[in-house]
Amino acid sequence: MQHRHLRFPGGKSKAFTMSYDDGWPQDKRFSDIITSYGIKATFNIISDAVSGNYDGIGLYPNVKWLSKEEIKKYILDRGHEIALHGKEHRSNGLQRPIGGIREILNCRLALEKEFGIIVRGMAYAYQGITTFSNGESYESVKHYLKDLDIAYSRSLGYNNNDFCLPNDWYNWIPSTHHQCDHAIEYVKKFVNLKLPKTHSARIPRLLYIWGHTYEFDNNDNWDRLEKICQMISSQNDIWCATNMEIYDYVMAYNSLVYSADETRIYNPTLKDIWLEIDGKTYTIKSDETIQIQ
Ligand SMILES: [Zn+2]
Repeated sequence: MQHRHLRFPGGKSKAFTMSYDDGWPQDKRFSDIITSYGIKATFNIISDAVSGNYDGIGLYPNVKWLSKEEIKKYILDRGHEIALHGKEHRSNGLQRPIGGIREILNCRLALEKEFGIIVRGMAYAYQGITTFSNGESYESVKHYLKDLDIAYSRSLGYNNNDFCLPNDWYNWIPSTHHQCDHAIEYVKKFVNLKLPKTHSARIPRLLYIWGHTYEFDNNDNWDRLEKICQMISSQNDIWCATNMEIYDYVMAYNSLVYSADETRIYNPTLKDIWLEIDGKTYTIKSDETIQIQ
């Protein structure tokens, strides 16, 4: 039996991604910093905020949410991406399915129309799927997100330094919020992490950091972001990608076609794919078949 593991582009065993919510004006400074380090992020956008119709139900009457032009300039044109965060930033767990469906579908329709792109990623607003009422359940939310062709949704929860790819893409738990006490410690651990010799344990690793960019202003700690970026970009074995780039790559890896004895592998996708088999790294180009000895 082979021990076979996904490797990220370039044969790398580690990936890093960031996810920042709501479209705060501080996203511009955040983008300036991470882009200069070659790091990528997914920005979760409230569609009503882009169209100037969102004030957080009175909580944020004076916030200058990112405009359409700013999203283009600071996010899309720099190779970052946008994802859904609801039309009105309402929690999926706290409303009946029809409300949640409207919230996500209307956000998707608006952002796709505004930017002329396909938007299938998402981060749950507020408590997301950590709290439920009005008869809603996680199974119900996951069911309608699949029907709406949503690829993944980032949730919240316990911080963890397992650095694993998600088992459930509709409950993608980040490694840590950037503001947590142990955030820098986690980054250090991830950067220094070397794969064990035991073949079965050589799984790919992912560090996933999330937050809100206004928090760097509130805590006066933009240097924390610089520190994280410096530690990640100083390594050459980490693939920096958006959330959807990671999802798409994993889906492509999962689409590889194997002979019955698993010694011949065909790549039917448009991406080049890397994998490690019994400690050796292989590349399979798009439409190529390789033979494992
Ligand atoms: Zn939010």
